[in-house]
Amino acid sequence: MENRNLGRVVSLLAQSRNTVVVTGAGISTEAGIPDFRGEKGIYRVLGENKVMQIINIDAFRRDPKTFYEFYRQYFTFPPVEPSLAHRILAEMEKEGYVKAIVTQNIDNLHQKAGSKRVIPIHGTADDFICTGKCKTVYDADYVRDFPEVIPTCQVCGSILKPDVVLFGENIKNYLDARDTILGAKVLVVIGSSLTVYPLAGFVKEFSTFYQDLIIINKGPTQMDHAAVIKLNVETTGEVMQEILRRLRMMER
Ligand code: NAD
Ligand code: ZN
Repeated sequence: MENRNLGRVVSLLAQSRNTVVVTGAGISTEAGIPDFRGEKGIYRVLGENKVMQIINIDAFRRDPKTFYEFYRQYFTFPPVEPSLAHRILAEMEKEGYVKAIVTQNIDNLHQKAGSKRVIPIHGTADDFICTGKCKTVYDADYVRDFPEVIPTCQVCGSILKPDVVLFGENIKNYLDARDTILGAKVLVVIGSSLTVYPLAGFVKEFSTFYQDLIIINKGPTQMDHAAVIKLNVETTGEVMQEILRRLRMMER
């Protein structure tokens, strides 16, 4: 691990009482959920265009059967537990080192790990919502065990839609996410290639007004040039654990 850079990260975090964390698919690969752009990610395997054509709000409305066949095959996450990095972030919040997490992930793992202030801008794959008037919410088990490909509402019979932001839809909590990021003193990006907008745009905006952007990722991101510190890591758990260990030592 790059010791000098790690030391700089720790001192920035120690001085900040307003650190916001942005997370992407890379923080959940250690929990067992593949990312999209990594080696075995579906963008590499199937091509981004194909995924975009199907995981799309128009395609969902036009041809829900094709949508759900695809969704069931590629977007059903295995039942996994939060990774070490998720758990460390929850502890960092408790101890005052992290104020909020803005995440692109739809796996609910930050919440499961105990983080309280989580802003999931792409929704959650755990919930399915009735597209009819009743808006009843169902869990993933209901959909998985549904006898037909297209899951429907028990109350009114309408089609259910995953509570995730599809291509062509607006992100959730747009203003909250943007305000939280732009209001940060230090922004730490973990496990995101920063290619997906508008989140990448918020990070870009932050970096033009403020200095302290830290990026912790495996491989390059679109904003490496703007980061004061970039940690190139193979995994996120150990580095986050080491950061928290050093922060705690400084308190003594
Ligand atoms: P991305 O796939 O664009 O980028 C992930 C980044 O994380 C890559 O740069 C990769 O090299 C890095 N990475 C992978 N494993 C890592 C590890 N162990 N340690 C450190 N870095 C690691 O992901 P994204 O930018 O978050 O965008 C993908 C989109 O797909 C998002 O919109 C998200 O909603 C969705 N998605 C979500 C999940 C999830 O909820 N877990 C999983 C896949 C995709
Ligand atoms: Zn209904």
